[in-house]
Amino acid sequence: MSEGASAVTPVGAVEVERAVEVAVVGGGAVGVTTAHDLAVRGASATLYERGAVADGASGRAAGVCYDAYADRIDAELGERALDRFREFSGTGAFEFVDCPYVILVREGDERRAEAIREGVARMRDHDRDVSLVDPTTLGGEFPDLRTDDVLVAAVARNAGYTDPGAYTAAMADEAREAGVEVREGTTARLLPGEGGPTVETDDGHEDFDAVLVAAGAHSRQVLADAGHPIPLKPYRVQALVTEADPITDRAPMCYDASGGYYLRPREGGLLVGDGCESRGDSQANQNPWDSGDGTELIERDPDDWDRDADDWFVADCAGYLETAFGRSYPVDRAWAGLCTATPDGHPLFGERAPGLYVAAGWQGHGFMRAPAMAERMADQMLGGDGIDAFDPNRFDGDEQFDIVEGMELD
Ligand SMILES: Cc1cc2nc3c(=O)[nH]c(=O)nc-3n(C[C@H](O)[C@H](O)[C@H](O)COP(=O)(O)OP(=O)(O)OC[C@H]3O[C@@H](n4cnc5c(N)ncnc54)[C@H](O)[C@@H]3O)c2cc1C
Repeated sequence: MSEGASAVTPVGAVEVERAVEVAVVGGGAVGVTTAHDLAVRGASATLYERGAVADGASGRAAGVCYDAYADRIDAELGERALDRFREFSGTGAFEFVDCPYVILVREGDERRAEAIREGVARMRDHDRDVSLVDPTTLGGEFPDLRTDDVLVAAVARNAGYTDPGAYTAAMADEAREAGVEVREGTTARLLPGEGGPTVETDDGHEDFDAVLVAAGAHSRQVLADAGHPIPLKPYRVQALVTEADPITDRAPMCYDASGGYYLRPREGGLLVGDGCESRGDSQANQNPWDSGDGTELIERDPDDWDRDADDWFVADCAGYLETAFGRSYPVDRAWAGLCTATPDGHPLFGERAPGLYVAAGWQGHGFMRAPAMAERMADQMLGGDGIDAFDPNRFDGDEQFDIVEGMELD
């Protein structure tokens, strides 16, 4: 095993003494990291991926990472994930770059300004390195950012970015080295039954002591086929990258809550995102970014959605960059991907039925918590404790609910 893998093995984690056979369905950041952690702890692990590793949301994500959560458990998971990213940085093509994360609202948006003030107070209660800053100080630290109409801003210092696809590929390689059998091009189905979980593929059936479904937007489908429904809705989000521009070297990561956009530096240019589709997108004069006033987001079929970005998104982004930097940036490329929503905005994470586990429903924040969630999941699958607040059995599985965007401030 490489140096990178041993460095991230958590101290005091559950390790197995008998032969335990486990399977993971889904080769995204969550699935490959969990499979890796299971193998490092002594389990015999098989990972099924219907396409190639990182074919799902993990290969399309922006890679913005932070621990600036108002909720204590999320903040702790975010911090642990950042530690693991830093320790793993330099493995294969994976690199993690430390970078401050700015949260701001612009003049005229008192509701969100108050939400930031309250959110920052709660983050600080949980010992997060986050502070409110006045616009002049913000402009002094980040001179390229337009701050003249900023009403309230905060800077989170424990933050950074990376390429999520590179992380997932590097971790999959580490998993293979740790002994995980990674079966790409293999769609897994779960069979309903009374005994332990059984996975069916085109090659036959296999029984396991424990199976994790980390199949991203397909997780509901995979579990429903086995008779264990979960309330999970996929929704489409979009991102773009600009061409390289030396000025953006000094940009922070930024979430503009008034505009609904986030951005981060990327290879000398910028990555800009969100673009959640709301019901109003097709109507003129609607701001489709602004889903924060109760606008319903659209549920997508995980097997039938448009992977290319919409024209309105690219045009709106160009306008937004003018707002954020006071100048334009040529767009290099744009794309779409699927995120997953749950009724209460918290993940579905834990044992859904005996031996059958789920890790899904990240509301657009799954990558940044993946290394921490994965080690918790590996622990739970090997007999450790789960996270009560995320227990998937808090729902029946047939709940009706509207999709609420994960970036929106409480
Ligand atoms: C444009 C965009 C930007 C984002 N930005 C960020 C960000 O900045 N920070 C952040 O934290 N999060 C971000 N996210 C969210 C993040 O991508 C996800 O929360 C995270 O990647 C989920 O990882 P996962 O492993 O759970 O799922 P996925 O990466 O979706 O992996 C699931 C895998 O399961 C496979 N699969 C499905 N069904 C089967 C089956 N039956 N058998 C075998 N394999 C199967 C799929 O092919 C897929 O590879 C973003 C998402 C998008 C789309």
